[in-house]
Amino acid sequence: MSRVIAVSNQKGGVGKTTTTVNLAASLALAGGKVLVIDFDPQGNASSALGFSPQTQDSTKTVYQSLIGETPIESAIVQTEIETLYLLPADQNLAGAEIELVSAFSRETKLKNLILKVRNQYDTIFIDCPPSLGLLTINALVACDSFLVPLQCEYFALEGLTQLINTVSLIRSSIAPDIKHEGIVLTMFDSRNKLSLEVEKEVRNHFGDLVFKTVIPRNVRLSECTSFGKPIVLYDVDSKGSVAYLSLAREFIDRHRPPNVEVSTLPLFREAHPETHAQTHLDTEVGA
Ligand code: ATP
Ligand code: MG
Repeated sequence: MSRVIAVSNQKGGVGKTTTTVNLAASLALAGGKVLVIDFDPQGNASSALGFSPQTQDSTKTVYQSLIGETPIESAIVQTEIETLYLLPADQNLAGAEIELVSAFSRETKLKNLILKVRNQYDTIFIDCPPSLGLLTINALVACDSFLVPLQCEYFALEGLTQLINTVSLIRSSIAPDIKHEGIVLTMFDSRNKLSLEVEKEVRNHFGDLVFKTVIPRNVRLSECTSFGKPIVLYDVDSKGSVAYLSLAREFIDRHRPPNVEVSTLPLFREAHPETHAQTHLDTEVGA
């Protein structure tokens, strides 16, 4: 059964796009068919997967599909990983936020669009912009669950409260069944006392909703974006890559039907046995 997950936090620069792209790539390499919907006019997920405004066809984006000019099937592109697909975005998507305001059923546009393809994928991720505007609301209405990357720093929880309030409003109106997929701690720096304090506070407050895997601050993760590659293709042995593979494993484990062993999945059986035990990785300096 396919699952649609909105990756959301209205705070900017907390690791939404990095988590979307690298979790999606890790899941695709583990054998799933995965679609990333870039739903941010910044187009960061598109460029992180190798599609820039210079190289992509500007008539084939999520915006064009949303306004009914291009069928979603023909806007979706295959990435360097065979089972990982992208519905790209560019700055035109910013127009949708304004244009949709007066549209009929404006909050369900993305949901209706995804309906046409959702059965073709195991998992669909929506990379949200850093706001709680109409784009994010469309993503939340379209999703089965929302995943929150949380940067280990001051005021980390502030944005989360607003997001959860927004989800509650949506639940009480158009989409009563949205689930909380969980919280991923990002850019963790074990030398920084604050990182440890934020982790403790978030785990106390949210318990098992918080993934055990913590994503360390790792320069490789910021580098790979500018090369248009997910970290597994850029530097598979980096701490960032190992962390996202570990996150993918935990993710699969959470959703695993009772009779399927994660260790039988190809990626985890052969390439990365070390990710089994590894959940909490130290920050790496300079690599
Ligand atoms: P926005 O709100 O603008 O969409 P975002 O929440 O999607 O931002 P990202 O773009 O994923 O955040 O990350 C912000 C910046 O931090 C990027 O330059 C990214 O390369 C970098 N970054 C993300 N995660 C890490 C990490 N674990 N270690 C080092 N750098 C990281
Ligand atoms: Mg982003």
